[in-house]
Amino acid sequence: MGKDIILAGRTIKRGEKFQDFITIPGTEYRTPVTVINGEGEGKTVLISAGVHGGEYPGVASASVVSSQLEPSEVRGAVIFFNCLNYSGMMSMVDAHVPEDDKNINRAFPGSADGSVTERIKYWVANEVRPQVDFILDLHSGGQFETLSDLIFFPTACGEQMRELTLDISRHMDVNYLVASTARDGLYSYSCHQGTPGIILERSGHGECSKKSIEQGINDINNLLIYFGITEGSFIPVEREQKIFERTNYLTSDEAGFWYPEVQIDEDIDKGQKLGTIKDVFGNMLREYHAEFDATVIYMQGGLIAQKGKTNLVSYSER
Ligand SMILES: [Zn+2]
Repeated sequence: MGKDIILAGRTIKRGEKFQDFITIPGTEYRTPVTVINGEGEGKTVLISAGVHGGEYPGVASASVVSSQLEPSEVRGAVIFFNCLNYSGMMSMVDAHVPEDDKNINRAFPGSADGSVTERIKYWVANEVRPQVDFILDLHSGGQFETLSDLIFFPTACGEQMRELTLDISRHMDVNYLVASTARDGLYSYSCHQGTPGIILERSGHGECSKKSIEQGINDINNLLIYFGITEGSFIPVEREQKIFERTNYLTSDEAGFWYPEVQIDEDIDKGQKLGTIKDVFGNMLREYHAEFDATVIYMQGGLIAQKGKTNLVSYSER
């Protein structure tokens, strides 16, 4: 026997499939969701995509699996946020929800009487999260970052959660598994509340190749097989994954123009020059160097560095 899934005033019973826009409680914000509630008992997973409007492959991959999967093929249930920040994506805003210019993936769990983004977070944290056993949050580098396919897994929520999320990550088609101590994002807040999850970041710079969509479909299918939600055998991961325990997320402390001297997947040495920030006339403002021997995992791929905001380079100790 399965269980009912309840989302924003709708009940999706076992054996039912629901696919439509719902309205986030306490708002007029409409977001597309799919629920495939199987007839048999099993785990419930949340596949979340489109939290950030400039991050495309996850949304495309989720649309394929969510349209094809039927309750007769499912034990337990699968909930898809097909594109949580739908207004941001359709208006081509990179990260924030345009209605209030806030980031869904920060300052969880939000509040029931705040702005739109606060209420979206509150709904995810309080109505959705308690119904699910695992969260796969699909992201990418967005419009401005180049990024090597990677997963952030929780390392500050106990050994058991670390091992579970690492075990699942080994079935995902990525290069790097990066330990994260984050606690106030969609998946990281949930991990700290006892619901395991990972962020999977695939591709970047506003790209959405056919290959990246297919890789994401395989990731979702492998996750469903892992939890026994669907039947089948794992699609093998051909890449040799590296686990990184320590990462430096270098943020710009100058406003200006960023000229990197490294690239993603490059192995760099302690002290190596990462790049420079210059003013609009080309005058040097700031130079950055690596603090330890590392591999570059993602970086700002455009010219602009905003003071205190732009992540110039993220590099993980090797
Ligand atoms: Zn993102």
